[in-house]
Amino acid sequence: MEIQKGYKFRIYPTKEQEIFLSNQFGGVRFIYNYFLNRRKEEYLINKKSSSYYKDAKYLTELKQQDGYEWMNNIDSQALQQSLRHLDTAYNMFFREICDFPQFKRRSNNQSFTTTQGFGIEDNILYIPKLKTLIKITQDRELPSKPVSVTISKTSSGKYYASFTCKFEQEPLPKSENKIGIDLGIKELVITSNGDHFTNPKLTKQFQKELTHKQRKLSKKKERIEKGELIIQLRYKAEWAGRTFYQISTWFPSSKTCNDCHYIMDKLPLNIRTWICPNCHTEHDRDINAAKNILEKGLKDLEDLKNDQKISNKIEKSGLGTKSDLKQKLVESPTSVSKKLKKSSKQVGVKKQEISDSFQK
Ligand SMILES: [Zn+2]
Repeated sequence: MEIQKGYKFRIYPTKEQEIFLSNQFGGVRFIYNYFLNRRKEEYLINKKSSSYYKDAKYLTELKQQDGYEWMNNIDSQALQQSLRHLDTAYNMFFREICDFPQFKRRSNNQSFTTTQGFGIEDNILYIPKLKTLIKITQDRELPSKPVSVTISKTSSGKYYASFTCKFEQEPLPKSENKIGIDLGIKELVITSNGDHFTNPKLTKQFQKELTHKQRKLSKKKERIEKGELIIQLRYKAEWAGRTFYQISTWFPSSKTCNDCHYIMDKLPLNIRTWICPNCHTEHDRDINAAKNILEKGLKDLEDLKNDQKISNKIEKSGLGTKSDLKQKLVESPTSVSKKLKKSSKQVGVKKQEISDSFQK
């Protein structure tokens, strides 16, 4: 499958180049804000929103008007990309994925994206409209010729270039390996094979130093990290041709004995090993949980497969609708972070689209 990946390197512009970049950032920000304002006004008047193509057409006219000659010093691709970003922000808002687009401020991170006339060679970067070459530290090879580059400046004054590359990713060879993964607090990842991976960002010393308020924040950060990890696992599994499945957060993975499936009433967090009162097996809390997660995941996937078989039979006999099943297949698991919530909203949108298309 074709995948898209970003590669970010630090760049070191000279003072003169910084002035040039600052003009580019300003021009792109001006256009974004100008068209955001224009769209807002248009919406107030006739309750309609513009499109990228209408905006791009108007941009060409605008450049010819008196007082806007300075725009000819700005990379035209970067200006158009800024209109695309605005259009995307609008679409995300209408699909309830993001908040309404905000005006861009000089104090935020600055950036512009260009798609033509740029290149990278021997730690040197060239971009449109700039006659000199920018020093770049490229610590990794790019897998293909990049399709775009985004130049950015952080609020602390560091400059970066991020290249977007598209390339074919071969799935890994087929494998019968299966693994259950539990996301813990002390350790980030515990697998059904008994492997532990500690969260390097939360060392013991660091946790000791946290005050109550900070602890609350840290919990939030942990949730976001877990959400991020799940997103990464999901798409990396897809790239590699592997099945990823997330079980319900309500499944009692810790309290269930993996040998006899006896379920404990309680298992306080400080209990790390326990003995099943029914079959007397001694369990490591986390590994037992990961084993249960693997078992539950495999069972859920098997059930889904059977549901599909039944539904296919029903469909052949003309009973029921396909959308019932489709909805079940795209149902998102409980989200664990804001970011994940956003992606589950996207699934929600898709769900609607799928059921709509089947009703037609
Ligand atoms: Zn047991």
